[in-house]
Amino acid sequence: MVDISRGSALGTSGASELFQLLRDGVPRTRASLAQSTGLARSTVAARVDELMQLGLVTPVADAASTGGRPPSQFALNPAARIVLAADLGASHATIAVSDLAGSPLAERSERLDIAQGPEAVLGWMVEAGLALIQQLGRDRHELAAIGIGVPGPVEHSSGRPVNPPIMPGWDRFDVPGWVQQHLEVPVLVDNDVNIMALGERALAWPHVEHMVFVKVATGIGSGIISGGLLQRGAQGIAGDIGHVRVARGADVPCHCGNRGCLEALASGPAIARALREEGVAVHSGNDVVDLVKRGDLAAIQAVRQAGRDIGEVLTACVSLINPSVIAIGGSMARAGEHLIAGVREVVYTRSMPLATEHLAIVQSAAAENAGVLGASMLAIHHALSPEGIDALAAR
Ligand SMILES: [Zn+2]
Repeated sequence: MVDISRGSALGTSGASELFQLLRDGVPRTRASLAQSTGLARSTVAARVDELMQLGLVTPVADAASTGGRPPSQFALNPAARIVLAADLGASHATIAVSDLAGSPLAERSERLDIAQGPEAVLGWMVEAGLALIQQLGRDRHELAAIGIGVPGPVEHSSGRPVNPPIMPGWDRFDVPGWVQQHLEVPVLVDNDVNIMALGERALAWPHVEHMVFVKVATGIGSGIISGGLLQRGAQGIAGDIGHVRVARGADVPCHCGNRGCLEALASGPAIARALREEGVAVHSGNDVVDLVKRGDLAAIQAVRQAGRDIGEVLTACVSLINPSVIAIGGSMARAGEHLIAGVREVVYTRSMPLATEHLAIVQSAAAENAGVLGASMLAIHHALSPEGIDALAAR
């Protein structure tokens, strides 16, 4: 059992620890809080009062209560603070202001090239974020944290991108340090696929403990949630499956210098190239998706084969981490069931029956919102942690 009697920056009250029970939004009475913590009712009452003073917890009307009896239940107040969530892609950027439940309150999207470098891109982010906060009539001091997703590997502990291939000028750049010169709140940075995994789980699979989110777009990567937690690995690149070798691609060169990488066979540009070699006039992954939607047989077959290639790599992932959900997102997932069918075909044939008995392989439900939703979850997880609540109380 978690020790929630420990002291905190709120004096020795332990209110931030008690809050951990309330942050799921489910209303609870003082009595039930006392029961689940083993604390005296007077202690629980004092801590709840403290959280109410911070605005983090709010009384909830008791459905069964009649007359003038005061409400006896309490829950997270999602409106207490706001977070900024930024999904910075290769050529577009989205920023949103969300409440503490992750619901977007305002959002802005723009074409923006990540290769313009960190100061131009983060400068836009700060400016657009402040404009949205103002537009909502909120105050910048209500901001609890900022979550940012970028299209490259990130050292999670420092928030610095590390050798990101499509982000010139960003290598080892101190993203949190730069942003905090303008907004003095915690800044959390992660790669785009990890935040998409967080977003997908929050929207569609909140109670699933083991899942893999696969992004299939210009590149291919995955975000792994195991035991309910995002797994980043030792250097933050866990789930980077794009350069795993696929047997079919033995002769196909990859931009990484190797041959036969999954990304060189099954990404949007790779599928388009394979179709061009068959004489089909396509230039990009988006062209391929358009052809699939028009029922073009060659494009459908190429996408299905890409699904099989992805399935080959995912079969190993299924053996390693035994997920109960694999969600496929990214721009190529718009090709719909044809891509998923290829993945299913291989994973269900090649995995051990026990591993696939309860395994769902599905299209991403969050779709293009996965990134910004996940960036808000990254910020909220931090802001509502015991340390985050202590920091909010101290400000
Ligand atoms: Zn490669």
